[in-house]
Amino acid sequence: RAAMAGGEGAASRPPPPLPPDVDTDDCLREYRHLFSPDILAGQVAFITGGGSGIGFRIAEIFMRHGCRTVIASRNLQRVSEASKKLVAATGQQCLPLSLDVRQPQTIMAAVDEALKEFKRIDILINGAAGNFLCPASALSFNAFKTVIEIDTIGTFNTSKILFEKYFRDHGGVIVNITATLDYRGQALQVHAGSAKAAIDAMTRHLAVEWGPNNVRVNSLAPGPISGTEGFRRLGGQHLETSSQMIPLQRAGNKTEIAHSTLYLASCLSSYVTGTTLVVDGGCWLTSANNFPAMLGIASSSAK
Ligand code: NAP
Repeated sequence: RAAMAGGEGAASRPPPPLPPDVDTDDCLREYRHLFSPDILAGQVAFITGGGSGIGFRIAEIFMRHGCRTVIASRNLQRVSEASKKLVAATGQQCLPLSLDVRQPQTIMAAVDEALKEFKRIDILINGAAGNFLCPASALSFNAFKTVIEIDTIGTFNTSKILFEKYFRDHGGVIVNITATLDYRGQALQVHAGSAKAAIDAMTRHLAVEWGPNNVRVNSLAPGPISGTEGFRRLGGQHLETSSQMIPLQRAGNKTEIAHSTLYLASCLSSYVTGTTLVVDGGCWLTSANNFPAMLGIASSSAK
C-alpha cells in the first residue's frame, strides 16, 4: 500500500535510521547515536514515571547521551529493577526513588535525596500519568478526580518543588508529557484529555513566569506509541489494523518519543519555551473519533 501511495518515491525511501524498538520495559539491543553522544554530559534528569514505557526509554536515551537519571514512581520495586537494566545497558548512574506525585511531601523527600546524591538537577520530565477508556456518563466522580490529581496536579506539584529547591537559582528545563486527546475532544477520554489540556496551559504559564530564572518549560504530546501501557489500554491492537488512518501509516515507538524529548531537554532547543511539540505521525489530524465505534473498541480491548 505504501508503494502505491508513494509511487517511485516510496520505493527509494531510505531505511529507518534506527534498529527496531523493544516492546517490553527493557533497553534497546543496539543503538546508533544520531545526536552528539555527550549532549547531556554531566547533567542530571529527574523523570517521574521513569520505570516503565515511554519514561523508561527517555531515561535510557538520556543516559546514552551522558546524563545521570533519577527515575521515580510509586512502586519502588519497579523503578529499582528498571534502574538495574538502565545502568547495565548504559554505564551511567540511575537512582530509583519512590514518590506519589499527588503527595508533595513524598516529592520533596525524593528531590532532597536526588540532590544529596547528585548535587544538581538540570532536567525534569513529568511523565507520571494514569489513563483508561471510559465514556463520560460511566466515569465515576472519583475516577475523573484521580486522573486530574495524578496528571495535572502531580505535574504542578513536581514542577513547583523542583523550582523552589533548585531551578529558581540554577535554571533548568521541564518537559511535560501530554497528549493530543483534547484537540478534537477524543471520545472516552474526557478525563485524560482535560487533564493534559490543563498541563499544556500550565506549560505556557510557567514558561512565562519562570523564563527570567532561565527555566524553559515545554510539552511533548505523543500519539499512539507501541510497546506501552497506554497503547495496550487505549485500543492499540485495533490501531495495528487501521494504521493507514495515520498520515505516516504506523504507530510511533518509544525511541522516537525519547529523541524528541532529548531535543526539548537539550541545548538544541535553547530558544524554545512555552510550546507543545506534537510527535504523532500526524495522527490527531485524521484519527477516528466516532463515539459508538470507540465504545466498541473499548469493550473489545477490555476483554
Ligand atoms: P506507563 O508505562 O503506565 O507510565 C506511567 C507511569 O506513571 C508509570 O511508571 C507509573 O508508575 C507512574 N505513575 C502513575 N501514577 C503515579 C503517581 N501517582 N505518582 C508517581 N508515579 C505515578 O504509561 P506510558 O503509556 O508509557 O505513558 C507515559 C506518558 O506518556 C504518560 O504521561 C501518558 O499519558 C503519555 N502518553 C502515552 C501515550 C501512549 O501511546 N503510550 C500516548 C500519549 C501520551 P507506578 O505505577 O510505579 O507509580
